[in-house]
Order: sequence, then structure tokens, then C-alpha cells
Amino acid sequence: MPVDLDTPVQFIKGVGPRRARMLESAGIRTAEDLLKYGPFRYEDRSNFRRIRDLSSEEEVVIRGVITVSGNYATPRRGMKIFEMSVRDETGSVSAKFFNQPYLSRVFKEGKEIVLFGTPRYDSYTGALAFLNPETELVGSEGDSAVHTGRIVPVYRKIGQISARQLRQILWNLVTALPDALKETLPSELVKRWKFPSLRDAITMLHFPEVPGGGDRNQFLEDLSRSATPAQRRFIFEEFFLFQLGLLLVRKKVESAPKNHSIRITDRARERIKSILPFHPTAAQKKVLKEIVSDMVSPRVMSRLLQGDVGSGKTIVALQAIVLAIESGYQTALMAPTELLAEQHFRNIKRYLEGTPYRVAFLSGSVKGKARKAVLVEVEEGNTDLLIGTHALIQGKVKFRSLAFVVIDEQHRFGVIQRSKLMEKGDLPDTLVMTATPIPRSLALTVYGDLSVSILDELPPGRQPVKTVVKNENSRSEVYGSILQQLKEGRQVYIVYPLVEESEKLDLKAAVEMADQLQSTLFVNYNVGLLHGRMKPDEKDELMKRFLSGDLHVLVSTTVIEVGIDVPNATVMVIEHAERFGLSQLHQLRGRIGRGGHAGLCVLMVDKVRTKEAYGRLDIMRKTSDGFRIAEKDLEIRGPGDFIGTKQSGVPQFIFGNIVRDRKLLELARQEAERHLARVGENREHLAALFGIIDRWRTKYGLYQVG
Ligand code: ADP
Ligand code: MG
Repeated sequence: MPVDLDTPVQFIKGVGPRRARMLESAGIRTAEDLLKYGPFRYEDRSNFRRIRDLSSEEEVVIRGVITVSGNYATPRRGMKIFEMSVRDETGSVSAKFFNQPYLSRVFKEGKEIVLFGTPRYDSYTGALAFLNPETELVGSEGDSAVHTGRIVPVYRKIGQISARQLRQILWNLVTALPDALKETLPSELVKRWKFPSLRDAITMLHFPEVPGGGDRNQFLEDLSRSATPAQRRFIFEEFFLFQLGLLLVRKKVESAPKNHSIRITDRARERIKSILPFHPTAAQKKVLKEIVSDMVSPRVMSRLLQGDVGSGKTIVALQAIVLAIESGYQTALMAPTELLAEQHFRNIKRYLEGTPYRVAFLSGSVKGKARKAVLVEVEEGNTDLLIGTHALIQGKVKFRSLAFVVIDEQHRFGVIQRSKLMEKGDLPDTLVMTATPIPRSLALTVYGDLSVSILDELPPGRQPVKTVVKNENSRSEVYGSILQQLKEGRQVYIVYPLVEESEKLDLKAAVEMADQLQSTLFVNYNVGLLHGRMKPDEKDELMKRFLSGDLHVLVSTTVIEVGIDVPNATVMVIEHAERFGLSQLHQLRGRIGRGGHAGLCVLMVDKVRTKEAYGRLDIMRKTSDGFRIAEKDLEIRGPGDFIGTKQSGVPQFIFGNIVRDRKLLELARQEAERHLARVGENREHLAALFGIIDRWRTKYGLYQVG
């Protein structure tokens, strides 16, 4: 039976109904899906290391026969160990597996096996041994060219289908495909960038061969970096389609006429000026201009406002809000945490004193009658500005005339939440704000559908913050500096990490620290404790006391991370700094050095991990440039953790890695722009593009196109 890309997996040789179900639950339905299940690693099995030549700390593949095998338990801790001895013509080596006693039923004496791993000197025997290596039994049928004698692909197993079985299935599929396949990339791109054809790329992805005249080691190295032509083609294709999708979304939004109209009247101008408690910076003026020109245009605004911590985004957003209200519409401001939403509510009410605007607050903790009242006012159009948490996007919240939406600290929200808030209005103008400087590679993926404004200037009078990394040995010295600052009338943050696994312990540590400091070192000062488990009004009360200066030291878990603004606080001590991401540290540090006094940020690190932590945290000492820190952070943690959650809007690419492959990402962006420009308004071509994107989009489930 002929096979093509659309063939259901069940009909691929080696699959059948049972395995088809397993593949299906991994989202693999067609031959094409399966072909996109690329190997996560390759092994050079044309080149097994001889056991005699093994050395420690080097990744190798060996092949041999199992000679002895069995289970035993370690005497002290009762850990079960399965151990086997593997022999080739040159010698034998042992391999141990922890707590997998069933292996004795699989790895029987006399069987031929391939091991992949890094041998190390065994502390008991002093001989080289493999610990938990990857394994593959060599088939009894005598291996074809599939599993050995070549560079083989290694797949992650799917359900009960082993890596080896997958390799066989993919071999069957790849060899059964017709010699020519319809291109999925525009052919001019294939030509311009000299990508292999789809057919060739498929073969080379799954069963690569060193190109004629090529250097074997170099090729293996390229494979491991996903830098071979076939791999690059798939990465490019994926990025290209993604960028095309984003650009189409943007095109669609931009070309939709909006159903509201914003006008700049003299009164609006007057009001916008009157709410300003200070002179705006040049950057604030420039950015406001960009926003306003979008708002008054007949096209819907989707704009990202990026500005480092403390650059003064709030007031800019508020000016835009005032403009929308003055034009007769409702507005909304969404913030990621209760505390931050409350702070916005408090500050904004202050800014808007003396205006007739009606501002309301909504979060999960606004309940019962109070909640109902807010909902009614919003629905009847009496509320001009609704401030709150993600409670704003819930179904019960209905606006009468929502025309402008601001989302603060966007990196905490996903693309989906963003679009949900937009759906509350009839194509409202949207401004998303973030203080996490987004490396360009990430900005292209997460915000590729937005126009960007940048606040690249801090308000005047900011003082530099000095950052130091210290460990337990220097604790008393650190407290000394704190006391000095307290004497001078400054205030202090002490921050504890709260990680989910050890939440209780961490909280306990923070509580104890607060008590202890209050009763000993800081007995003449007021120490407060702020954490996420407190009720909103308790938090509020505490923050107010800190803001008013009644509290001198605020011991806190990371709830103070974003947005909190107390200019007189100049010292921040971050405990267990090694547990935080760099961007998070940057955010935290942004809380100090806001007033007219120089700041000090102390990163306390674990004693045993000082050296490693020091290496990572060094960038914090060296720079306060949020962009550089973010780049570094992205490099260290990868995009998923960097953004925080799975639904953060960073798609899980199959082949591409936006850090490793950022050059290809840039290229894909340019090509997508060029492509779309050329297509122009050609309906047929656009429809075809929508078709491609749509098919592809269902995989990511992210962007509604068309
Ligand atoms: P972020 O961009 O981090 O959200 P905020 O909007 O919270 O920053 O502003 C940080 C602080 O700077 C606030 O105390 C705010 O009142 C102050 N601020 C903002 N703009 C100016 C300005 N032009 N001049 C003086 N202070 C300003
Ligand atoms: Mg802010």
C-alpha cells in the first residue's frame, strides 16, 4: 500500500491498531506527525568504543554480550541494584541500575546489548562502570542497517513503544515514502537558503549519513547542535509558519475597522496634564504619543510597552486611560497579583482625585454583595475604569462600552488571557506592559503580533544600586550595613524565596527570621512580615505601614516582586538568592534605589553552593541593564522557565529552540514579512496561507487565525 504524509499511522508497517492508539495519545495521527517526531539524540553505532579503551568522564557507545547479571541490595540503605557485566572482544565492564530489579528479566546472560553513557570509577570496586546507562538489546534477527553499523536516531519512547521499535517504524515509513513529496515551504525559500527538499530532509533527519567528503566528527557535532541542513530546514520551517501566523493575526487586527472612536479634546488634554504629579520624562512623552496616535487612528491598537522596572509605565497608561474615558468609553487595567492590582487601585485613585471618574476594583477576594455591586456598575456602564486581577476575564464580567484595555506585567499572563480580556469589548485598543525586558528572540515569539514602544529612560534622581553576593560567613557584616541604613532613616526589605515544594518550611524560616530580628538586632525598629497566605486587607495594612515609614524592616516572601513602590526603602537582602531566576532578582532589586538615596542589594547564597551561585549571579553585580540580564537568564533557564508557566504563550516548538536557533528565528521573521508583503492583498494566496497556518496552528492550539 502506498504511503504518503496523510496516511494514518495505523497503516504504517510495524504500527497496527494497538500502537496506533498509543501514538494517538501522544498526538501522532498521521505519517507526517510521526515524521515530525524527530530523534532527541543520535548515536554513532558505526563506531563502538572497545571496552579496553574506555576512559572515565567520556560519553561513549559500547556493544557486547551480557555475561553475568543479577540483583542485590546495598547493605546500609537497602537500595536495590541490578548489575550486569558486558563483554566484547577486548574486555568487560560492569553496568549498574538503581531500583529497577525487573531488569533481570530483560537483560539475560548471553544477550547482545548496546550501552550508551559515561563510565565512571566505581567507589567500591575502583573499576570503571556505567551507572544507569541507556540500553538497547540488539535484535535476535540480526540487525539490518537500521539499528547498528550507522549513525542511529534515538527517540523518546511513546507509551509502550520503545526507542528501538520507533526506530524500526520510522525506518519502515521513511523508506516507503515516494521519491518526491509536495514541498511544504515556498520553493523560492528552499532555493534561496539551499535547504534540502522535504523528501531529502526527512531521510537525513531520521537516518543521517556523513556527507561525501565530510568530516565525521564535525558532522556528529553538527547533529548534536541541530545544525545539519536537514535539521535547520525543519527549524526554519517551523519558525517561518509561526511568524507568518503572527503576522497574519496582526494584519487582521490592524485591518479591522474599530467600532469606537477616540478624540483628543481640549478638556481631555487638560485632564491628562492635571493628573500628572511630576514632569514626564522625554521617553514617557514619546511613548504616550505613540500610544495616542494608535488610539485615535481608525485601526485597533495592539501595543507592547516595555520599560525597565521603575521607568514609569503606570502614569503613561493612566494618561491613555483618561483619554479613552474622556471619549466616553470604559477602560480596564489588569495586573497579575492581588497586591499589585490593589496598589494600582490605591495609586490611581490618588492620581484621579479631583476628577469625576468612577474607578472600581475586582479580584477573587471581592465577594458576595460587594462583587455583585461592582459587576452591576460595570455592566451598566457606570464604572469608567475597572482595575483588578485575572478576575476581570471571568465570564460574569460584562462591560457596556469597553474600548481600552491595559495589561500590566504581561509576562505573567498568557496570550490566551490577553485575548480573553480583549473579547470583553468590541475590539478594544490594547496596551500590554512589561518590566521584564524581553530578549528579542522571545519578543518575536511571544509578542510577534504586537507593535512595540520602549521606555528607555528612568525618571530623574534615581540612584545606582550596589549589588554584592555574600554567604553565611558575612551575615553579621550584612546586618551591620542594614543597621547603618536604618540609623540614617532608610527602610529595608528582606526577601525569602517561597518554592512550592518547601513552602511550609520556607514560610517558617521567614517567620522565625522576622521574630528573631525584631527581638534582637532590630529591637529599636519595627519589623513586619508579609507573605502570600495573609488576607488582602492584612497585606494592605502592612504595606501601608511600610509606605508610611512606621515599619522599618519588611521581611517578605516574593509577593513584593512586581511593581511595589516605596522610595525610602534602600536596602534589600535576598536570602537564598541562588534559588531565584536572574530576571526575578532584577525585578526584586528594582524595588530599591527609587528615591534620592543610593541602594544596596545583598544576595545571600548557600555556603556550599557559593562558588557556583557566584558564577551565575555575577551578572547581577556587573549590570543593572535588564536586557542583558534577561538574555543571560534566558540562556541559563530556557524559554519555558524564563516566562514561568506553560500557558505563557511561548509555544513548544518541535524542532526549534528560540535561544539556540535565534538566528534562524530572525531569518524566519524577515522571510515571513517579505512573503506577506509580496502576497499583498491577493485573496487566493492569502486564503492558501491561512490554510497552511490553520493546519499547523491546531498543533499549537494558540492562535485563532482567519
Ligand atoms: P514601572 O514602570 O516599574 O511600573 P512605576 O510606574 O511604578 O514604574 O513608576 C515608578 C516610580 O517612578 C513611581 O514612584 C512613580 O511615581 C515615579 N515616576 C514615574 N514617572 C516619573 C517622572 N516622570 N518623574 C518622577 N517620578 C516618576
Ligand atoms: Mg509597574
